[in-house]
Amino acid sequence: MKLAEKTRSNEEQVRAYYETLFRAWGRQHWWPARTRFEVIVGAYLTQNTAWTNVERALRSLRASGLLTLEGIRRVPLPQLEALIRSAGYFRQKARRLKTFVSYLDEHYGGSLNQMFAQSTERLREELLALNGVGPETADSILLYAGNHPVFVVDAYTRRVLDRHGILAEKAGYEEIRAVLERALAPLASDVSFPSEGSKSISATIVPGTSHPPSSMSIAKRSPLVQIYNEMHGLIVGVGKNYCVKSKARCEACPLKPYLP
Ligand code: SF4
Repeated sequence: MKLAEKTRSNEEQVRAYYETLFRAWGRQHWWPARTRFEVIVGAYLTQNTAWTNVERALRSLRASGLLTLEGIRRVPLPQLEALIRSAGYFRQKARRLKTFVSYLDEHYGGSLNQMFAQSTERLREELLALNGVGPETADSILLYAGNHPVFVVDAYTRRVLDRHGILAEKAGYEEIRAVLERALAPLASDVSFPSEGSKSISATIVPGTSHPPSSMSIAKRSPLVQIYNEMHGLIVGVGKNYCVKSKARCEACPLKPYLP
């Protein structure tokens, strides 16, 4: 009984974080991309590097006319490596992008529509089996490119939950994902909560984390997927601006009222 009560309390806390952050900052417009494939490329490139480096690599690919499925399919590996050099681990990442395109071609005839029509569980398993795809990359692809209802757990999520005594920073990825998903799911049908179009929510630019609207960020998606989408962006905003690794800047953080 005590465990059940604690779990319920954790979920209520997480819901309150979302509501507070969303009311404070509004939509964060993740993921900044024009196409689903661009999201996928970004999800690979952002591993172990800052997004500004990824943006440079994406610009190089776009300028070369290669930021497409066909472009990555036909570009010779050394050229791809050179184009994405700014993203770091460029040899590894170039090979991984080629592997993804081969997988898509072999399993889905090169069709993202067919791939994303697969059930969430099965597609997640397939993505996780690809070289270089861990849970965060798989879930970024599922959520931000495919509109599948999965929450993307990252280091910021771990840090915030740990500092608020909800889950230890070293808790398993699936455990954290389950808490977030259980917590946020009820909001998808909560008509009392301001929707994305509500006049009471005005987007605030959160330094380094919110993005201008893009084709992918404004694409139509289910309320649940939209909430998972927003929560990840909002937590990144907290992690980058307040809940930094070296020192928590709680004084100005919107989540200060929830500190244990
Ligand atoms: S900065 Fe402080 S208040 Fe904000 S999330 Fe981190 S621990 Fe919580």
